[in-house]
Amino acid sequence: MRLLLVEDEKKVSSFVARGLAEERFAVDVAPDGQSGLELATTYHYDLVILDLMLPKLDGSEVLRRIRTQNAQVPVLILTARDTVADKVGNFEAGADDYLTKPFAFAELLVRVKALLRRGPVSRSSVVRVGDLELDRLSQLVRRSGRRIDLTSKEYSLLEYLISNAGRVLSRTMIVEHVWDQSFNGVTNIVDVYVRHLRIKVDDPFEQKLIRTVRGVGYTVIQGTPQ
Ligand code: CA
Repeated sequence: MRLLLVEDEKKVSSFVARGLAEERFAVDVAPDGQSGLELATTYHYDLVILDLMLPKLDGSEVLRRIRTQNAQVPVLILTARDTVADKVGNFEAGADDYLTKPFAFAELLVRVKALLRRGPVSRSSVVRVGDLELDRLSQLVRRSGRRIDLTSKEYSLLEYLISNAGRVLSRTMIVEHVWDQSFNGVTNIVDVYVRHLRIKVDDPFEQKLIRTVRGVGYTVIQGTPQ
């Protein structure tokens, strides 16, 4: 297993690299974002451990560029930044896990091993169902090449539905995923939003992708590309 460690703090990088070597991993170390990106896009790594605050090129930017070329390599972010906004931002940009400094080597090792067990992940940011496509990064939705403008709730609902295309989703599941657990409103909120979605996503097109499953909830069919 070959790992890439992108970290500018020498103390941290040598301590991590030594620990990983003792666990029989082959470890390359890059001391800045630029060289980290070069290595990550030149060689095949089983995992990248990436610091965020890096000279030359910020870790978030390194991650973004790695993802445009290699969607599959697992990336573990190592950082002193630990606000929720940072975490959400980096997960959206394609990080697989997150470890806040200072950390114990044992915890890093557990996470590294878990990511390696999981292996390469296919995570194209674009999800397609029939001629409908949704880009999770830009949050753009198109159908037959035509841009569809959605409110943020409509977008979340559509993302959940098409990420689970072919599965029947109950109203309760939808409420829990899209409105979060604390939502205690009436579940017909789902029906209301599905109706909004249909007007934008299905009504103008011949093939209807959103189907009602009576007494249960909704499903999105796989559809045929057009
Ligand atoms: Ca740093």
